Amino acid sequence: MAEFQGTLAASIHISGTGLHTGKQGTMTFHPASPGFGIQFRRTDLEGKPMIPAHITHVVDTARGTTIGIDSVRIYTIEHVLAALIGMGVDNALIDLNMDEIPIRDGSSRYFVEAIEQVGIQTQSQTREYIEIKEELVLHLSDTGSKLRISPADEFSVEVEIDYATKVLGKQKAYLSSLSEFNTEIAPCRTFVFLHELEFLLNNNLIKGGDLSNAIVFVNRKVSQEELDRLATLFNKPKVKVKDEGILNNLELYFPNEAARHKLLDVVGDLSLLGKRLKGKVQAYKPGHYANTEFAKLIYKTLNSISYD
Ligand SMILES: [Zn+2]
Repeated sequence: MAEFQGTLAASIHISGTGLHTGKQGTMTFHPASPGFGIQFRRTDLEGKPMIPAHITHVVDTARGTTIGIDSVRIYTIEHVLAALIGMGVDNALIDLNMDEIPIRDGSSRYFVEAIEQVGIQTQSQTREYIEIKEELVLHLSDTGSKLRISPADEFSVEVEIDYATKVLGKQKAYLSSLSEFNTEIAPCRTFVFLHELEFLLNNNLIKGGDLSNAIVFVNRKVSQEELDRLATLFNKPKVKVKDEGILNNLELYFPNEAARHKLLDVVGDLSLLGKRLKGKVQAYKPGHYANTEFAKLIYKTLNSISYD
């Protein structure tokens, strides 16, 4: 049976802070006509430039996926894109009055909840799919990342992470259908290792972090002095390490929340193909660079054009 495209039944606003820039802003999701896809519009800039959420516009993948055209950028698009595809939104115009998507709690939950509030409007045109005819594999030797897609009637994703640390070693997550995204994957928050966190803080790279938007894994001994310093940086009375090896800023929703978040990122990054995939995805050690290179490989194979 044919499935129809969907958009939002009404406009919605979400405000928040960008994780990396620390800027506060508002994002407004507007309904859009069939075939429009997902496009961002920078309302704070002259001429209100638009950037389609498409793999051909990816310009950076360090600490998040960034799209850009000329000097205009939109940072950290992956969590909102995952929420849109998970909720069945094919077409939307997203106004943003800053250069980064608000991080909220580091998951897709707030975007999903906002979309749920207004609901989905089914549209007149049918959905188009990318059907995978033969297996495609991307292997990155420097990171050991390996992503594979093989033919299947439905989209599914299997992720395995392997950080080779005591607190976060091998961990797996599985999504058998996008219809399970909202409950199984959307609430899963991003994570960081304590040593990375200190580096990012010291280099002013996470101005919007407040210890509520990431799971912090502690993979080495940490002194009380360091914990006190973190408490001051994050404006918390006390910071300590819990038995599971994470900081006490939050409770895990799932024992494998980290792997589930990496799966969320894969869903968001692959949605940059602009159409839904029919295929079985297996991702070992995924990351934004690997995910977007994999999406480019799929795009290039489908279009049989040279692309880099
Ligand atoms: Zn993420």
